[in-house]
Amino acid sequence: MRTVIERTQGMKVAEIFEVLIQSGAEIKLEREKLRIKTPKGRLSSEILNQMDQFKPELVELLEKEVKWRVETMRSQIKPLEPVPLLIVKKNSEKGGLCISCGIPLPLRTQFRCWFCSLASRKILSEIR
Ligand SMILES: [Zn+2]
Repeated sequence: MRTVIERTQGMKVAEIFEVLIQSGAEIKLEREKLRIKTPKGRLSSEILNQMDQFKPELVELLEKEVKWRVETMRSQIKPLEPVPLLIVKKNSEKGGLCISCGIPLPLRTQFRCWFCSLASRKILSEIR
């Protein structure tokens, strides 16, 4: 059986992103720029090539996914009130799904997806 990490041909941008997440890649927002740090030796050169090739699309996807979450979360913050648990949709408390937006999580140790964590980190850094 082929693993997800080996599946490169004809991959969509969203799939490349998923492979990155599953490999343990770190995704950060630094001064409005997205940075992807890939773990050494965990990704095939094919995947790394695809990542380079589709970098603008990957960044675009991430920015798009993070942007609407940031806007939704920002609207939940009231001045002089404690920051609530930032979630972008209701009724997504099932195991294996992001508690915030409800998309499936690649890692069991997470409770929020990367998009939602990036968005909430951005919000928290704004109000600090
Ligand atoms: Zn989420």
